Amino acid sequence: MQFLEKNTIKEKICDWLMIGMRSCIHCESFLVRKSLLCYFCESKLFSLSCSEGLYHHFEHQVSCFSLLSWERDQNIILNRLIPNLKGKRQRKAWSYFAKLIAYELSRQSPRTLGFSLNEELLIVPCPSRKKVNDHAFFLAQGLSEELKVPLVKTMEFGKFNSESKKMKRADRLAIQKLTLSKVESEKPLIHNKANITVLFVDDVITTGATLKAANLLHKEYKNFIAISLAFRR
Ligand SMILES: [Zn+2]
Repeated sequence: MQFLEKNTIKEKICDWLMIGMRSCIHCESFLVRKSLLCYFCESKLFSLSCSEGLYHHFEHQVSCFSLLSWERDQNIILNRLIPNLKGKRQRKAWSYFAKLIAYELSRQSPRTLGFSLNEELLIVPCPSRKKVNDHAFFLAQGLSEELKVPLVKTMEFGKFNSESKKMKRADRLAIQKLTLSKVESEKPLIHNKANITVLFVDDVITTGATLKAANLLHKEYKNFIAISLAFRR
């Protein structure tokens, strides 16, 4: 028992020291929250970018819910927040935003959502092109914990062939195809797909090209819904 308490104190001291090292990414106040912003900047961000809780939109006929609507040049705080969140060691910040999204989802009626949080759901993160768990995965993981919904990596980006290795990085990434992962296609892990609603999670939805491909790969499922932190207009 005493050992546990000692560890908690240690953690608290570490947290406190970390706070001293970080400051609000917008105004540099030292009273920074898990969102990487101080209370005032966080409130301002939400009043500017998410006045109605969740932003509902359709991309390539997929129903999408985003916490923040991102119009470039119109929200300096969000312009700063997104690149900072994509930096290293931001797992805690992503799980904080996941909590907010889960809360907002739970406040909506199944009619508004087009699905119920009580039905059979599956959280699918947008895969990383670099084969490591990235921001979309951290957000998906946070949502999976909050909503008590299983997370399965059903997709992956295809491997480069010898031809594509000679190409420029940007061209190579552009042709890299999204496919179903071994988990989805080989192992019969997911039964009764027709009863499962897929919640596809990405950090930022921009053109929706990945979203479109992901939707096509999940045609056998009952429903396909996209969830993101931000939607860039
Ligand atoms: Zn601030």
